[in-house]
Amino acid sequence: MTQLNETHQPELRSWVASANNQQTDFPIQNLPFSIFRRHGRNEKFRAGVAIGEHIVDLPAAHKAGVFSMSLTPMLRTLNKSKLNKFMGMGKGAWSELRLELSQALREGSPSQALLENCLVPQTQAEYKVPARIGDYTDFYTSINHATNVGKLFRPDNPLLPNYQWIPIGYHGRSSSIEVSGHGFHRPHGQLKAPDSDTPVLAPCKRLDYELEVGIYIGKGNAMGHPIGINQAEDHVFGLCMFNDWSARDIQAWEYQPLGPFLSKSFASTVSPWIVTMEALAPYREAWSRPSDHPQPLPYLESHDNRNVGAVDMHLEVLLQTAKMKADGHAAERVALSNFNQSYWTVAQMVAHHSVNGCNLKPGDFLGSGTQSGTTAESVGALLEATQGGKNPINLSNGEQRTFLEDGDTVTLTGWCDSETAPRIGFGHAAATVLPALEIE
Ligand code: CA
Repeated sequence: MTQLNETHQPELRSWVASANNQQTDFPIQNLPFSIFRRHGRNEKFRAGVAIGEHIVDLPAAHKAGVFSMSLTPMLRTLNKSKLNKFMGMGKGAWSELRLELSQALREGSPSQALLENCLVPQTQAEYKVPARIGDYTDFYTSINHATNVGKLFRPDNPLLPNYQWIPIGYHGRSSSIEVSGHGFHRPHGQLKAPDSDTPVLAPCKRLDYELEVGIYIGKGNAMGHPIGINQAEDHVFGLCMFNDWSARDIQAWEYQPLGPFLSKSFASTVSPWIVTMEALAPYREAWSRPSDHPQPLPYLESHDNRNVGAVDMHLEVLLQTAKMKADGHAAERVALSNFNQSYWTVAQMVAHHSVNGCNLKPGDFLGSGTQSGTTAESVGALLEATQGGKNPINLSNGEQRTFLEDGDTVTLTGWCDSETAPRIGFGHAAATVLPALEIE
């Protein structure tokens, strides 16, 4: 687990004025990574770090001579359109760069004159998925979500017996993960009405979002060599916002016996920014398991995981319908949850994923599963908020939703704050539902 260091000091201020705004996602204590370029220019995508309303162009800063010579091999990896090589360099390398960036961006830094020319306003940027995601695994770590969904499918037996022992997951599809700002067509699939003997092929009618945290693997492990829980977080580069769009009617018909398939693989959305585990150090919390639940097996148990395994990370879903857009209304909050409710921690997910010897690679991606709290306002999917489509949610302009309609834009946001550390944010993961295409 990362110790607090000088980069976390709450009193640090930057010469980038917008970074000192208390509402910014990107104060000098955050320093998240993305892959970006200036929109509409014939430029290479490259790595950047957010500061206030700007992006530090890392290759440009390297060229300007802002960093120590010893960082040169690392900085060469950041002049690429994917972060995988940098992610694979490990925690020590990420931390060295974070310290030098923090020092160069502080008020009074002698590097200010050099770095000022390396800033790009975020309003001028476009982004890519920041890593080549080789493999993507989606977990199911919210017991509230698992129980709410289980009740809809199996009222007498909502939580299956393995849930409290295994961080449940399935292997997902990485090719359809896109960066915030995209649209996707409503998927077709096999739908079977409860009162019908046969399915039909039709556009999904029960399209849903899933409020998840995305986890990027940093340094990988050799095949056959599990990652112990005490080393697990050393293998995690950072976290982002993640929407695992789900077609509930396709899912209901296909999910047994092997789990979700086409109900999930048509689109997923990540935020452009990855907040490093080091930046999250001030917002860690104790993790516990209710005493009347089974306690984890020893390979999923550690002192650090108990003391600081959870992340106090607020998670939010915003919805803007086509009518709200046309009427000039802002997106409206439909859910507010927190990652600290998770039944399993990031370290437990990584330790479990690799316990059979499965090799994780830099840039591999884990979804946390939908993060639902215990109240109606804190559930992370419409399936739960509407009790399976039975009770629509009411929007402030009089519209209702059971599931998503064409033209709806869903935006996920996340942030951390505490009494002793400033607010840091994750930016947005937003995408818009487009009408189904005709099938030829
Ligand atoms: Ca999911």
